[in-house]
Amino acid sequence: MTRPSGGPAGGALAEAPPADSGPSEADWTAAVAVVRALPPGGRVLLICHVNPDGDALGSMLGFALGLRQLGVRRMQATFPGPPEVPEPFRALPGLELLVPATEADRDPDLVICFDAASESRLGELVDRLETAGAALVLDHHASNTRFGRVNLVDPHAAATSVVAEELLARLGVTLDAAIAECLYVALSTDTGSFRFEATTPAVHRMAARLLETGIRPGDISRRIFDTRPYGAVRLFGEVLGRARLEPAAAAGHGLVWTYATQDDLARHDQRPYVLEALIDSVRCTAEADVSCVVKQTTAGDWAVSMRSKGAVDVSLVAVALGGGGHRFAAGFTGSGTVDDVVDRIRGQLDGALTGAGRH
Ligand code: AMP
Ligand code: MN
Ligand code: MN
Repeated sequence: MTRPSGGPAGGALAEAPPADSGPSEADWTAAVAVVRALPPGGRVLLICHVNPDGDALGSMLGFALGLRQLGVRRMQATFPGPPEVPEPFRALPGLELLVPATEADRDPDLVICFDAASESRLGELVDRLETAGAALVLDHHASNTRFGRVNLVDPHAAATSVVAEELLARLGVTLDAAIAECLYVALSTDTGSFRFEATTPAVHRMAARLLETGIRPGDISRRIFDTRPYGAVRLFGEVLGRARLEPAAAAGHGLVWTYATQDDLARHDQRPYVLEALIDSVRCTAEADVSCVVKQTTAGDWAVSMRSKGAVDVSLVAVALGGGGHRFAAGFTGSGTVDDVVDRIRGQLDGALTGAGRH
């Protein structure tokens, strides 16, 4: 494969992951073959995970626009649950391809899943894995269950969009500004604006390729990271004001947590997705390795976001509680009261210590 910046995919040999991680050449070949095997007029359904984030939407829409460049015309993009796109992502190119899950093709020729570690993240759309002519999975979660018929899973990739870019290149797609904007939103979301550990030289080289198409990183970042309604600013103030620090938790590495209820959202007239950014303020807490935001989704159900600075592997906590994610960022859904949910987290922390950290 050739790239504008030259060099092998994923960068120099020194940063290449172990041979047994990431997709093999055979996996890439199979994925390319599955796309090329689409009959003329073939129908493609692209699905990303429930409550989509920037990587889910950006990798899905960027890939869809790449398929369009290859001449694929009959395409739908979708995700399970309510068909509401968070405001920060409403300017993404390719959004016109989105349909509500209820309108998604029931038996497409090809289904492609993005950024979903397991079938449970596909909600009511999971049956398409069976009904579609072929099923391709693009992801970067170490916990991915390889639920596709062809799986491109690279746990070393900073975002699913890294895998998407590679497959697009292998399919002969040329990056244009629309594709690049989608992939850039995905990459900058999952690397926390190029701040997290996953920000390798290869990530910056990919960012360079995307920026070379002329996209405007200042505008994009302001939209996805630095813009929220006044009501959300006030809501954040309240929710941050009730944060609790437990310095002794996680064998002294510390836990900080807070919660937001449906009533909090209603009082400030805010939609649930505005809470996604809250964890970034909570995880600043110097005295805690682990941070959590517990978000009420229905009367007795909560979606939990967890972050770690390295002393605790929060993906172990999440998986033990029925969720998933990465070492430094993971989540799960739980029922009961806030205290029940936080108790369950406390109970998993000691078993998830990594041996790294400050103590
Ligand atoms: P979030 O805190 O929602 O930004 O999610 C952080 C990470 O945890 C992401 O990689 C998600 O894919 C993963 N994650 C969050 N919630 C769940 C869940 N309920 N089940 C599985 N994985 C999750
Ligand atoms: Mn995601
Ligand atoms: Mn991701």
